[in-house]
Amino acid sequence: MEREQLPVDVLFVGAGPANLAAAYSLDRQLRALGKRDEIEIAVIEKAQAVGSHILSGAIMDPRSMSELFPDGWLEAGCPVEAKVGAEEVYHLSQGKGQRIPVPPMLKNHGFHIVTLSDVVVWLKEKCEEQEIMIFEGFPGHEFLWEDGKVAGVRTMDKGLNQAGEPGPAFEPGADITARCVVLGEGTRGSLTKQLIDKLGLQGRNPQIYGTGCKEVWQLPAGRLPAGKVIHTSGWPLDGDMYGGSWIYGLGNDRASVGFVTALDSGEPWQDPWENFQRWKTHPKIREVLEGGEILKAGAKTVPEGGYWSRPKSYGDNFMIVGDSASLLNISRLKGIHSAIKSGLMAADTIIEAIEKDDFSEATLAGFETRFQESWLRKELYHVRNYRADFKNAKGFWGGALKAGFKYMTGFGAEFKELTSDYEDMKKLPDAKPALEPLEYDGKYLIDKVTQVFHAGSIHEEHQPSHLVVHDPSICATTCAEEYGNPCQYFCPANVYEMVDDSTSGGKRLQINHSNCVHCKTCDILDPYAIITWEVPSDAGGPKYQGL
Ligand code: SF4
Repeated sequence: MEREQLPVDVLFVGAGPANLAAAYSLDRQLRALGKRDEIEIAVIEKAQAVGSHILSGAIMDPRSMSELFPDGWLEAGCPVEAKVGAEEVYHLSQGKGQRIPVPPMLKNHGFHIVTLSDVVVWLKEKCEEQEIMIFEGFPGHEFLWEDGKVAGVRTMDKGLNQAGEPGPAFEPGADITARCVVLGEGTRGSLTKQLIDKLGLQGRNPQIYGTGCKEVWQLPAGRLPAGKVIHTSGWPLDGDMYGGSWIYGLGNDRASVGFVTALDSGEPWQDPWENFQRWKTHPKIREVLEGGEILKAGAKTVPEGGYWSRPKSYGDNFMIVGDSASLLNISRLKGIHSAIKSGLMAADTIIEAIEKDDFSEATLAGFETRFQESWLRKELYHVRNYRADFKNAKGFWGGALKAGFKYMTGFGAEFKELTSDYEDMKKLPDAKPALEPLEYDGKYLIDKVTQVFHAGSIHEEHQPSHLVVHDPSICATTCAEEYGNPCQYFCPANVYEMVDDSTSGGKRLQINHSNCVHCKTCDILDPYAIITWEVPSDAGGPKYQGL
């Protein structure tokens, strides 16, 4: 098959904050060296439009944004929602909320609340002003290899029919060759996963994930001041589970609200979307949201593991940045500043490689050296066991005590081998009884299908499913008996359904792939690890702008 050949020098995969910052910084440094004309830079993004697949809380620590725009990031036009004002933290139990002091790691005074999808659109515009090529709707599908080394990326074929064969609008994916590929695909990136598995890059711990579900609300006038920040722990999660919520006051009487459920709870019926909706029934939360209206909704996994879950993030011709490199600081609920910082360090490393005319592992190891000497390493190392402590303690308060003590003292060399989230899942006889199903009213409490509507997620129906279940024969038999088909619960978009099978008279798995909001929970949590999330052929998915 004839494929378009696109040779570039540096290819950034994923137009999130890490890669856009890297591209912008690289361009600026090349111009200062008078070498911009010699170096071709390209960014590819799987979404049809930059920002569509970006979902975050989010309060931004501006430290690295100030490094990227030394003359002022606000002055440069970065969109913000509000400056953080009042901050409150509550521990919830059923029907009650106990206000507790704001822990030091959650002090956000003076930072800004942002809509990250808006911030990346702005960063994209800054890059385009510098004539950096950004290709939207270009999902990276697989690596190109040469002599066992990364040599570029092949993008997904478009216009495949349901059988995976070329349809009438078929367009073969392009081969983009590059001297350096920078992976900034966000959480559980599909190319990053391929590379980590193939080259054995995973660090000391496996990644530990949560699934975050979010809505943006239009509230009654004056209900929540812009800049007000509320965090909660506890209910509806059991005492042995990690997770929590946020409510951030945005401008124009809007609020960002969300709830993160850890994926290591072990309960096969655990349902992050239902947890989020159940949390909204708490009187403390109703006080804020009742009478308002949901504008947007979505879900995404959060890589919570931190320092010890980092993969080796460099090798011959590649680097890994941002969430893909496990640089989010879950103790602070922040990853934008670390993503941008990693982009800046990647750009500096590429400049060194260009000057040496060498993109080998020996030169790109400079990325790790820069990280180890950076303020980011200091920040992440200080809380290196934070999330693992919650996982090991198997109890929120035990974990909080351990993690809090280490945060205050800096101690924390303890190491216990961790299991992956899917390995923690209990078989049915060992699981706790499931909660009573929640009743959705379609307005205040919305079900998963309504969430998909609010996420604006669309995929062409007549294409191969981008959710590959490698052995569907176990769904109605082994999995049903052992785990009760947990995919029906953990997917926040109702993609997986066990339906009656007229042929066998039993059940079969139905995959509603067009619902998918690209959260990646199934790729992480399936107990048999037989679900692979692939980039869709039509570059479809959610439209998270403004969320
Ligand atoms: Fe998330 Fe997988 Fe469901 Fe898509 S199918 S929404 S990636 S759990």
